[in-house]
Amino acid sequence: MVSQSQIHELHFILVPLMAQSHLIPFTEMAKVLAHHGVKVTVILTPLNAARFNTFLENAKASSLNIEFLSLRFPGQEVGLPKGCESFDTLPSFNLIPQFFAATNMLQKPLEEWLEELESLPNCIISDLCLPWTTEIALKFEIPRLIFQTTSCFSLLCSHNITSSNVLEGVTSDSEPFLVPNVPDRIEFTIAQLPKGMRKSSSEYKKLLDKVKMDGLLAQGMVINSFEELEPRYVEEYKKVVKNIWCIGPLSLCNKISDELENGNDNSIDEGNCMSWLDSMKPSSVIYVCFGSLCQMIASQLVELALGLEASNCPFIWVIKKGDYSKEFENWLVEENFEERTKGRGLIIRGWAPQVQILSHSAIGGFLTHCGWNSTLEAVSAGVPVITWPMIAEQFFNEKLLVQVLRIGVRVGISVSMDNEEEKDKVLVKREDVKKAIEQLMEEEREERRERAKKLRGITKKAVEEGGSSYINVELLIQHIRGQVTDHQAM
Ligand code: UDP
Repeated sequence: MVSQSQIHELHFILVPLMAQSHLIPFTEMAKVLAHHGVKVTVILTPLNAARFNTFLENAKASSLNIEFLSLRFPGQEVGLPKGCESFDTLPSFNLIPQFFAATNMLQKPLEEWLEELESLPNCIISDLCLPWTTEIALKFEIPRLIFQTTSCFSLLCSHNITSSNVLEGVTSDSEPFLVPNVPDRIEFTIAQLPKGMRKSSSEYKKLLDKVKMDGLLAQGMVINSFEELEPRYVEEYKKVVKNIWCIGPLSLCNKISDELENGNDNSIDEGNCMSWLDSMKPSSVIYVCFGSLCQMIASQLVELALGLEASNCPFIWVIKKGDYSKEFENWLVEENFEERTKGRGLIIRGWAPQVQILSHSAIGGFLTHCGWNSTLEAVSAGVPVITWPMIAEQFFNEKLLVQVLRIGVRVGISVSMDNEEEKDKVLVKREDVKKAIEQLMEEEREERRERAKKLRGITKKAVEEGGSSYINVELLIQHIRGQVTDHQAM
């Protein structure tokens, strides 16, 4: 039963996958929805809630109606190490099945919480890979929307590849094939596809069917992209999924109103980092960061280090915790690498204030693994990129950046790292790094930079009041409000 007060104040619950690259846009979405007058509860676990404590305090200080519901994460019950509550804290990707098993166990406590509420929420927005949220939505008759932390370009390419027979005619993993029925001539090889798309194993088919079923049961998709970025792909994807709302880039929506707080303590004082950048020439520095998940072996890091040195280009290089190894740290010390690049190289061990760094005028390029959040952050900051995709849909994002938006150059990697045989190989040589940096900083530099700058302007407009993403947030809320009213009339 819908109470009178709900007509005035809608209540959404957001259920993210516990991984930094999902938690960040989900919490950003919470802020955006709250700015539009919605009450939001984000479902978290104790350690993830603690990571976003400052975020919550800031939101409350700005009178935003956001709450966290922290559910105990039963990781140890399924064999995960203590303190492991998010993807980026998994000691090995081999523990992914256990991680999902623990995540699925959140269904029961969430149902118990819902049962205790005086009035039910009006909408659940959850990650695609949490099918149990569909069961909750059906059980409590709450409209559910799927949140996609990717582009319509990726969604359309994936859909068209899997729903056609195109892979059946491909004879080897390295043979290029054309993605059917997309607005541009887009080619991939099987070796670049996300792991699950490569083999048509019965297990994967079962998973696909389940995901497809969840998609059908959901009322639509909320996408962290914006219409002007990929208009033809948004239009085409609307033929696949009727209700989609592109409301991104979420990081930029919030930058306009608040300080950004993304749930991790920076490993460098932001002021020091900014004054280092202040001392550099405009558009001269390459920022190197590969997100929160992908790991590199020590010999690959050595090649990267030597490539950065050989390029003679100033750089900020973020080496995340998962990439630390005694072997690489010893190499840095033995080779005196930081002394050799002193004055033009800054290594950050751990977590960097990425969005702030990218928006500094000294940044001239971003060497990225093409995670979707990083891709959007580069676009929002108007920074050209060097693409080094590694896993999942990152090769799709590379294509969008290099071929469709034309703001990137490839480092030249041709196989996905989630291919078992490729995982422990050096895939990119120092010469490749040097060449890509030179290409980005010299060849067609001005044209590429102009295009990136133009995109920054378009992006800003999309999230401002009256912009496409702003309007789409309003339309999404109206869609849910319409159902509350319908319900009331029954
Ligand atoms: N990030 C950051 N500092 C770091 C590393 C990552 O702020 O040192 C943020 C980055 O800005 C982005 C997210 O973490 O918002 C990474 O998400 P992405 O989708 O790019 O990659 P993933 O972590 O999924 O590989």
